[in-house]
Parts: sequence; structure tokens; C-alpha cells
Amino acid sequence: GEEVKRIESAGADWVHLDVMDGIFVPNITIGPVVISSVRKLTKMPFDVHLMIQRPMKYVKMFADAGSDMLTIHVDADGDVKETLKAIRDCGVRPGITLNPGIPVEKLDPYLDMVDLVLIMTVDAGFGGQSFKDVGLSKIARVKEYAESHNPKLEISVDGGINRDTGKRCVDAGATVLAAGSSLFGAADMKKEIA
Ligand code: ZN
Repeated sequence: GEEVKRIESAGADWVHLDVMDGIFVPNITIGPVVISSVRKLTKMPFDVHLMIQRPMKYVKMFADAGSDMLTIHVDADGDVKETLKAIRDCGVRPGITLNPGIPVEKLDPYLDMVDLVLIMTVDAGFGGQSFKDVGLSKIARVKEYAESHNPKLEISVDGGINRDTGKRCVDAGATVLAAGSSLFGAADMKKEIA
């Protein structure tokens, strides 16, 4: 709770919450109960990144917990289109994402169903990894799509984001930067966010 208030006063626009289930990724983080507790502390939009198998099963739970955006992995078990539709039907903005090793073309069948595309620039599952350049060309490709089909599409980047890699992502077309270690480890979070 204190950290959420800290990032709000440091000028963050959204809270990016990484949900890991110990199955889709080896690590375990938080679930809907923690998200609904934190929800009471801020009006900042909650951008919830589900690194979980069978996300369909949990859509309603995460919607009810107060998610504003719910992003699923393209290679998670289950029907991607059905899951994205279920997210929208719950009144939440759907997002799609993929790990660095997966070609960006895998997103094509879903681009017209989402409000957000999340480009992973590290492998999902752990914080503190360094940025993988492969994300930059993916951002540029999604930007090309957004310009011709959906100018409101958010292009978010997650993994190894700091003041240097963040700038390179924005130059490539990113509209949202999800940063963890570089902000929480900074002496002055406000300056780093700016
Ligand atoms: Zn994330």
C-alpha cells in the first residue's frame, strides 16, 4: 500500500501488476485478493499482466478485483479470442502479450480485439533482467498496425525499462512503459519517472 502511494505521488500514470502462477512462469507473485486490497488505496488505473495458464478461468475474479486492463499471454493455455472477449464483456480493457522468443506475427489474429499490446523485452517470470533489443522491431511493427487500424491502441513495453531503454522504446512507437527495478531502486523515483 505504501509503495502504491509512493508511485502515485512520484507521478506514475498507471500501476502495472505482475501476476505469476508458478505454472506459466516458475515464479509466484500475487492474485486477486491482494489486487482488491490495493484497489482501495488509489484511483490510478490498474494494468494487470496475467502470466498464468488458463487465464479464462480467472477473468471474472481479476475484473471484480478492480482491474482496468487485463493482459494475457498469446501462448497461455485456452482459447485466446474467447478470453479476450470475456475480458471485454466484464467491462475491462483487454490486452495481449508475448515473450521475447515468440514472433510478433502471432499477435495478428487478435490485434483488432485488444486495447493494449504489451511487448515483453525480458522473459516473463522474474524482475531485474536486462532489456532484449528484439522488442524494438516488434514495437515498430505494432505501431504500423496501430497507425493504419487503431490509433488508440496502447503499445506497452515491459522488462528492463529504464531511462535509456525507455527512450529507445518510445522512439520505436511505445505509448506506455512499465518499469519496476529502475524505479523502485532509484534514489529519487519522481526524477526517474519524469
Ligand atoms: Zn508485467
